[in-house]
Amino acid sequence: MLYNLQFTQALAALSTKFSPEERQAWSTSGALKKNAANAETSFEALLSHVISELSKDKSVYKVNAEETSMLMSGVWSPQSIEFSLQQLCLPFLRLSCLLQHHLYGAPSPAAWYEEEEFPSLAVCLGLLASAPQPSNNAHSASCLQWAVDAFDLVTQWCAEVTGLSQMQAEQSLTLLVQEPEWAAPRLLQLPDNYNVIFQYYHRKACTACKKVPKDPALCLVCGAFVCLKGVCCKQQGICECVLHSQHCGAATGIFLLINASVIIIIRGHRFCLWGSVYLDAHGEEDRDLRRGKPLFLCEERYRVLEQQWVSHTFDHINKRWGPHYNGL
Ligand SMILES: [Zn+2]
Ligand SMILES: [Zn+2]
Ligand SMILES: [Zn+2]
Repeated sequence: MLYNLQFTQALAALSTKFSPEERQAWSTSGALKKNAANAETSFEALLSHVISELSKDKSVYKVNAEETSMLMSGVWSPQSIEFSLQQLCLPFLRLSCLLQHHLYGAPSPAAWYEEEEFPSLAVCLGLLASAPQPSNNAHSASCLQWAVDAFDLVTQWCAEVTGLSQMQAEQSLTLLVQEPEWAAPRLLQLPDNYNVIFQYYHRKACTACKKVPKDPALCLVCGAFVCLKGVCCKQQGICECVLHSQHCGAATGIFLLINASVIIIIRGHRFCLWGSVYLDAHGEEDRDLRRGKPLFLCEERYRVLEQQWVSHTFDHINKRWGPHYNGL
């Protein structure tokens, strides 16, 4: 049943990419198939139904009109629609297969070729009895199994969208056009000038102990502001930075020491001094801010740090690690 919803969402997403003329054409041609015996598993009939239901609210397709006219890429054919529907449904199928595998120990689908991914996953999930031969005959609509009248249900789902779009036209469209872009994890965005950080944080009070820390530190993953080494925020013999690294990064923490401009990494029971991402005009660090020269963000170094964090390679980089005895 969830697949039915996913499929209907895919139809709706696809229909926003059509030009108004195409939308009209697919709506009309599909309507003719609505009375056929297999209408509930015909993408044409369902697509037509989705378009006519969503068109009940003029704003649904209107918001996007300008963008689509610019992005129009040729004419949609039944093949290209089927391909797009499969692409839109694939993330759902992949997730479902993984869940099925981990929850029930079901075998994960064997290695497959890209063009066979859809049928392999559909078979694995029991949506298809067997992979169609040849595999490019797979139809995303044939995986649908309706327990109730398909068109009634789709009408209800579409009404949810049109109901929302009457209040928030833009938002309802972003819900429809599901193009999930998964951005890689990022560290905090840092200002160019170190003075901005220093001025903001060096007198800031910790939210836990309400005091201005003697050694303030900033978690570069989540932005938490903590008392490095402070007895004030020690809990059961563990200082705040170490505690925070356990909660924030499963014992991996990256902290900017505000009064020193350097970064430390905590990994479990060990820590290391990573160095600074802020350099003076000559490209040199100013540890502990002794020289007091203006410092500027070195984007390149910061990217390196971020890359090591994302790829879990802190352990392998050549740094001097030492025990922190929970005292950071
Ligand atoms: Zn954090
Ligand atoms: Zn604190
Ligand atoms: Zn404190």
